[in-house]
Amino acid sequence: MFEALQDGLSSAFKTLRGQGKLSESNMRDGLKLVERSLLEADVSFAVVRDFMKRVNDEAVGEAVLKSLNPSQQVVGVVYQALVDFMGPVDHSLHLKGKGELTTIMMCGLQGSGKTTTTGKLGRQLKAAGRMPLMVACDLQRPGAIDQLHILGEQLEVPVFSDRTQKDPVAVTKAAQAHAKKIGADVLLLDTAGRLHVDEALMEELKRVDRQAMPDQVLLVIDSMTGQDAVNSAQAFNDALELDGVILTKLDGDARGGAALSVKHVTGVPIKYIGVGEHLDALEEFHPDRMAGRILGQGDILTLVEKAQREFDQDEMARQEERLRKGEFTLDDFRKQMSQISRLGPLQKIMGMIPGMGGLMKHLDNVDAEQGMRRMLGIVDSMTAEEKRNPSKVIDQNRRRRIAAGSGVQPHEVNELVKQFDAMSQVMTAMAGKGARDRMKMVRD
Ligand code: GDP
Repeated sequence: MFEALQDGLSSAFKTLRGQGKLSESNMRDGLKLVERSLLEADVSFAVVRDFMKRVNDEAVGEAVLKSLNPSQQVVGVVYQALVDFMGPVDHSLHLKGKGELTTIMMCGLQGSGKTTTTGKLGRQLKAAGRMPLMVACDLQRPGAIDQLHILGEQLEVPVFSDRTQKDPVAVTKAAQAHAKKIGADVLLLDTAGRLHVDEALMEELKRVDRQAMPDQVLLVIDSMTGQDAVNSAQAFNDALELDGVILTKLDGDARGGAALSVKHVTGVPIKYIGVGEHLDALEEFHPDRMAGRILGQGDILTLVEKAQREFDQDEMARQEERLRKGEFTLDDFRKQMSQISRLGPLQKIMGMIPGMGGLMKHLDNVDAEQGMRRMLGIVDSMTAEEKRNPSKVIDQNRRRRIAAGSGVQPHEVNELVKQFDAMSQVMTAMAGKGARDRMKMVRD
């Protein structure tokens, strides 16, 4: 993600680092490159101007030029400016107490990911012990009501709709009454969107805003849309009193510009980011991590947090224990692999690890996912004894049977067994070492 900005900034910094001694003039040249990268990454012109002014003032200041390591200092200045521009943080949806109804209005252009994000929020609120009710207020797009109902069924979150109504305000009011009846405490309004900003849409949204008086108005913006993202953010911000922004599709090749510009244009916090089509692919927005990602430092913190949340801690402890005893089997191997795949698309996970982002550009995510699934299938076709001791027990005959059972070629079974042998040697060598030493072994 953020590749355009990242690549541009990395080369700008390389140029800066290449200068034996930084002077005011070559520093300015370096900063010109930073400026160009920002523009190429679709950051709007006004934002670039403000951003560069701030960076220029600080970077060519006396403290930086006289310091021992001026180019690193400049990186620090740019990093801090990015953090400041994308902050401050406020992840809260400012929900009222339980038993009181909080109404959240979701708005955005068609295709921005509004309905999906409504589902993601519904899922998250439910997990937090709230009682969300999703409301189909998009009465224009054919299929919008059905889409929300399907999401609701998937998530087991109730959905309110009225197919006879043409007025979203009436639907919202009826939904507010319905929420009271069923004990829901958060109303998520999935409002109408259009392909482009237009008067009629804004008028409709303004009416919902005025008459249903939502507590929070959240704007959903597709980060892939570059300069258009800025223009639509501006239009929504002019029409409505926004409380926050959710940037979607940051898992793709989104250019970094949207996060900077949308924040600048609306002045409201970016609360969440959408990082995939799955309903769990919603993360809190952290300006510092995003700035780190933009500068190519990877996003290890997000990964660690995700791993801690997703990994079954008891199962991890059991595996550790077995490892210590030197009992690593294909079953453990399988469990580890499926835990990793639960973290999300492989390509995305790798992108969060510093240095891996570039490598993963060349790897097709579909290939990686398919490889993982095939591998799991092979292990599942083995007997318990074969999983414990594959290289000893599996002969040619069994290899063919396992391959047939899992729909792969016999040589793939062989490769997996070889991989497992190599991995279990590493695992045995690692056993007994602490987590830190293990990380070090992996890095070395
Ligand atoms: P709406 O018209 O604004 O309600 O948009 P939808 O919720 O129907 O989303 C449009 C498309 O974007 C769908 O294919 C979604 O799966 C996809 N989408 C939504 N959020 C994300 C995201 O964070 N990442 C990715 N990759 N796709 C997303």
